[in-house]
Amino acid sequence: MSLLVMKFGGTSVADLARIRNASEKVKREVERGYRVIVIVSAMSGKTNELVGWVRDAANPPGANAPGFYDAREYDAVVSSGENITSGLMALTLQEMGVEARSWQGWQVPLKTTSAHGAARIEEIGTDNLNTKFDDGMQVAVVAGFQGISPEGRLTTLGRGGSDTTAVAFAAAFKAERCDIYTDVDGIYTTDPRITGKARKLDKIAFEEMLELASLGAKVLQTRSVELAMRYKVRLQVLSSFDDLPGTLVCDEEEIMESKVVSGVAYSRDEAKLTLISVADRPGIAAAIFGPLAEAGVNVDMIVQNISEEGRTDMTFSCPIDEVGKARAAMEAAKQGGSINYHELDADTEVCKVSIVGIGMRSHAGVAQKMFSALAKEGVNIKVITTSEIKVSVLVDRKYMELAVQALHDAFDLDKAA
Ligand code: ADP
Ligand code: ASP
Ligand code: MG
Repeated sequence: MSLLVMKFGGTSVADLARIRNASEKVKREVERGYRVIVIVSAMSGKTNELVGWVRDAANPPGANAPGFYDAREYDAVVSSGENITSGLMALTLQEMGVEARSWQGWQVPLKTTSAHGAARIEEIGTDNLNTKFDDGMQVAVVAGFQGISPEGRLTTLGRGGSDTTAVAFAAAFKAERCDIYTDVDGIYTTDPRITGKARKLDKIAFEEMLELASLGAKVLQTRSVELAMRYKVRLQVLSSFDDLPGTLVCDEEEIMESKVVSGVAYSRDEAKLTLISVADRPGIAAAIFGPLAEAGVNVDMIVQNISEEGRTDMTFSCPIDEVGKARAAMEAAKQGGSINYHELDADTEVCKVSIVGIGMRSHAGVAQKMFSALAKEGVNIKVITTSEIKVSVLVDRKYMELAVQALHDAFDLDKAA
């Protein structure tokens, strides 16, 4: 019997009426003859609320280790939102006459590494679910985002992780398709919340979606796209609220016509740090970025400017909430004598805007067109990075919407290829 994976995000299961609406979509597929594995997120806003509770419990006023919390307990609390929606959806389906059962990560089991808060999936056992399917279960409603570590503790897969749960199940159970139901009806040329001119794509190549996701388009978690690409999962994004065709994420060979630039992504909460006047000598980059990596700072863009004789300024970007960690790591390195700098300058009012397209591989002048479009709007570029299929710039956050819109216009993304 063919099997489908259907994933419903937070807004799609935000209350009982929406859970019923989602359940109707599931029932329709059961009536078409599919076995269905449903992956659910927590109700929208729930995970944020749980994260807030964890922070407040671990950091009351006067806490002796401010900012610290035990990641194992974070996972124990934060994974719970999905338990509620999986049980409620199983109950709703049962009420509709469907043989449904909820499954938490450990019951499946979905085994992960022990990197709490950002665990990676190692293996999904298929026997338990398959036995129940053979016994008459029609739908397994699995709590997304969670798994179990080798030590037997609950883990979570990082924010937005239910997408990855869904793709991993589709791969493990060799599903015919993995349908990601969300609050938009597909993948757009840019976030439709930023411009009304955003256009829905029928298809997008894995490589492009991978870049867009990692550059901030949260419609799919980056890891889910990686897994879909590796295991050749047929991945589709579509609306929970209407029956429009969605967007297929597929191999580039399946896309007949494509533009040089396919999409624009943004990441709002970036910071730019500059170490002013460090020694320009072999090993300096390692001496700076080694301690940052050890401190768990996700460094993204890097630029080195020669300043005066024998000295250099080193600029890098990282997520805004990692600035404290970065500063502490640099101060420790300075005190330990491995680096010396005059000052650490932090600009926390920046964002990253990127253009992505596999067509860039064979077209010159794309970056130039991007820079001109931003210049025309008076947007100053602070840092630039490029790869084969993307160009990213760091700009002042107040220009974020303007920059996205200007680039969307400059590359005619509102028009079909
Ligand atoms: P879910 O809760 O269903 O997982 P998310 O909020 O994680 O939903 O992802 C859907 C959101 O992603 C949309 O509401 C949209 O604002 C945003 N988004 C960002 N970039 C894009 C894009 N290129 N295409 C579609 N949606 C996008
Ligand atoms: N509920 C989790 C989150 O908000 C996982 C998900 O929705 O994908 O990050
Ligand atoms: Mg999501």
